[in-house]
Amino acid sequence: MTAPAEAEVHAPVTWYWEAGGEHCPHGPQPDRDSPEIDEWWDRHQGSPQDVYICLDAPMGEVCDVCSEEDGDAVSMKFCRARPQCRAKAGTAPASDAHKPITVWRGPADCIERECPDYWDEEGEERSDVEACSHISEQQICPACSTADPNGIYYEALTVNWPCDLAPPPAAETGSEAADRTGSA
Ligand SMILES: [Zn+2]
Ligand SMILES: [Zn+2]
Ligand SMILES: [Zn+2]
Ligand SMILES: [Zn+2]
Repeated sequence: MTAPAEAEVHAPVTWYWEAGGEHCPHGPQPDRDSPEIDEWWDRHQGSPQDVYICLDAPMGEVCDVCSEEDGDAVSMKFCRARPQCRAKAGTAPASDAHKPITVWRGPADCIERECPDYWDEEGEERSDVEACSHISEQQICPACSTADPNGIYYEALTVNWPCDLAPPPAAETGSEAADRTGSA
């Protein structure tokens, strides 16, 4: 296994929409010899993706590394360097009910069983390691959280338990003398 160079930082950078596109308020690029061209160039510039971008049409913050790898804007929400969650083994799959499920939370490599904890010196996967040392358990509401098709909950789209729609706590045990004050 070769480790990728860790020179890059998963940090937010601002990406902009294409010049002359639907988000650009300036319209199409004027002729090169028209008087408006200098003004146009004040608000537009080239980009590493080889398109002219409009500085008045920010797309929002995206992850520098993930966006570059994908060649497409990847918002910080979906940055692969942020912690992710996955339902703990043996936990019922996500449901629409506002009931807690237990998830493992940790770096993407650990959730995907790629960190060194899962492998022995011979390079064999250690099936006895259920969750590596970098993973913690947490309770989330599956109805309020959004998982991707692989069952990964991204941190930014994960709502910890109890959520706002959690049913009120059940009556305390031992409250057998329920308050029966009649209504009306
Ligand atoms: Zn523009
Ligand atoms: Zn990233
Ligand atoms: Zn909920
Ligand atoms: Zn790990």
